[in-house]
Amino acid sequence: MSNRLRALLTGRHRYDKTLSTRGRGAGVVIEAPILAYLIETPNGRILYDVGCDYQKLHDPAQRARYFAPDAFTYGAPTMTEDERLPAQLKALGLQPADIDLVFIGHLHFDHAGGLCELPGCEVHVQADELAAATAQEDSAYFAADFAGRALRTQQGEYEVAPGVRAIASPGHTAGHMSLLVELAAGPPVLLCGDAADLQENLEYEIAPGLCWREREDLALASIRKLKSLAHETGAQLWPNHDLAFWAGTMAARGWH
Ligand SMILES: [Zn+2]
Repeated sequence: MSNRLRALLTGRHRYDKTLSTRGRGAGVVIEAPILAYLIETPNGRILYDVGCDYQKLHDPAQRARYFAPDAFTYGAPTMTEDERLPAQLKALGLQPADIDLVFIGHLHFDHAGGLCELPGCEVHVQADELAAATAQEDSAYFAADFAGRALRTQQGEYEVAPGVRAIASPGHTAGHMSLLVELAAGPPVLLCGDAADLQENLEYEIAPGLCWREREDLALASIRKLKSLAHETGAQLWPNHDLAFWAGTMAARGWH
C-alpha cells in the first residue's frame, strides 16, 4: 500500500470541555485544532473533511449571523489566510483542482464549511448524515455549507480507494464516518473524526458532548468499535480535536 497521509491544521476553536467530553470538564476551556487530512493514493488525492468556511468567519455580516456570541461563548474559531485549504495545498505544491475526492465525515460547520474552496470536486457523504443536516437536527449544521452542492450520497461502509476504508461511527451525528487508512510506511491510521475528539474519549470511553438525538449509547458503541478495529488491524487511533495529541503527531512526523 503506497498511501500517504498528512494532517492540515485549518484553524482553532476554544470551547467548554463538555463539548468534547459529555458531562465532564464543565467550566474548563480547551483549545481544539480544526483539522483536514490529505490522503495521497495511487488512484488520486482524497481530503477527509475540509475545515470551516473562511468567509463566514471573516465577512462581518456573515460572522455576526453564524457565530453569535450567545451560541459561541468563547468566540468563533480562528482561521488565518494561510490556514485556508488553497494556501495549504499551495505550500505542498498542489491546488484545489488536484483533489479528486472530498470525503466528509460529518456535515458540521467545522468539517464541511471549506467545501466552497473545492468547487467541482466530487464529495462523498452518508445519506443519513445529509438527511439530518438538511433537517437541521442540531445548530452546528450550516445549510449554506452544503445545500445546493452536488453530493454523492453513500450508504454504510465502503472502500473509498485501495487501503482507504470508510467506517461507520454514528453517535455524534446521524451518519458520522471515520476513515481507516493503510500507509506506505508504518501502521495504518484510523481517523476517528468527531467520534472521538480527545484521547480521553478513547481511553475512558466517554461520548462526545453533542450526541445525535441524545444517543449516547450509539456514540459509545462507535468508540468501542473503533478501538476494537484498531486492535484488529494494528491501526493508530487519531482523535480529531486534541491539541496536545496533534502537536505531538505533527512533530513526530515532521509536519508543520
Ligand atoms: Zn462535529
